[in-house]
Amino acid sequence: MLLAAAAFALTIRVYDVYGLPPADRQVMLSVASTALAEAGVAAAIVDCSGPRPAAACQLPVAPNEVVLRIHRMSPDDSHALGVAFIHGKSGADAAEPNTVATIYATHVADMARRSGTPVTTLMGHVAAHEIGHLLIGSNAHASAGLMRGSWTWLQIQRAHPEDWVFTPADVATIRLRLERRQPLLAGAPVETMRMATTVMSSILPFAPAASSSAGGTSDR
Ligand SMILES: [Zn+2]
Repeated sequence: MLLAAAAFALTIRVYDVYGLPPADRQVMLSVASTALAEAGVAAAIVDCSGPRPAAACQLPVAPNEVVLRIHRMSPDDSHALGVAFIHGKSGADAAEPNTVATIYATHVADMARRSGTPVTTLMGHVAAHEIGHLLIGSNAHASAGLMRGSWTWLQIQRAHPEDWVFTPADVATIRLRLERRQPLLAGAPVETMRMATTVMSSILPFAPAASSSAGGTSDR
């Protein structure tokens, strides 16, 4: 697929507390990055897993960054594949960036096993879906494509490419919101950058549940 004309840069900080083998983590992230690239988002990975994380992990989370956590299973005993924390007002007009997405490796591995799909592939789809919620700014689901709300093992097994890409409507919302969240790679409107930095300074990426304005999706 042709990439959208102007790519937006997004950094994904990965915290794998589940402990995937690094090679599997790389494959999974490559699947997620491909889905994002097809939506015009150029993802750079900063791996903050393990005892010696990258130096960039010490820096504050920037406006063009999201945090992807890989946990063992959901804390509420559900079979959710992942969750994304969306702040208060949702939708294309919500100004506040959303930062934290989590995938639940045990549930994804179980689903992958039942559908005969490589776990790294399915985990990459889940990661792209949850990051999609952050970028779209909503917990809502689409009727088709990667952002649909229900994934059956039959759908996963048949592996139709159109099931695993963002729809044109998703892409339009992602681009609209990223235009506000960060400057284009080529040419940086300084005012936009300042605004985004101010907004980000009020967010604690690792305490979303403590915020009364945070909510989450439970993707089963
Ligand atoms: Zn979802």
